[in-house]
Amino acid sequence: MAAGKPISISDRLGSTSFHTDTEAHLRIPEPRTCLTCELKPCIRVCPAQVYAWEESDQRIHIRFENCLELGACRIACHRVGKGALAWEFPRGGKGVSYRFG
Ligand code: SF4
Repeated sequence: MAAGKPISISDRLGSTSFHTDTEAHLRIPEPRTCLTCELKPCIRVCPAQVYAWEESDQRIHIRFENCLELGACRIACHRVGKGALAWEFPRGGKGVSYRFG
């Protein structure tokens, strides 16, 4: 890579690595809370598509291993602490590692 040349977003994201934890750091303690959440903003704001609504069991499914730890879902969810999203950083040494910050 040439010195002084800007690094593209795709190159930055391509260099991102994940150290997946065995325990989820994102949880929804009371999944029924999401049933009446009409817009489900967690699904829309997450660039890593961590959240998905599953019709078959009427729940939000969380792919925590894809989490980029931006916290956008935590800001977007209006029911944090009320049975919906419980957001923590992954345990030490786990989660995402950005090479270029
Ligand atoms: S986690 Fe929050 S934003 Fe997502 S569906 Fe549940 S209540 Fe709505």
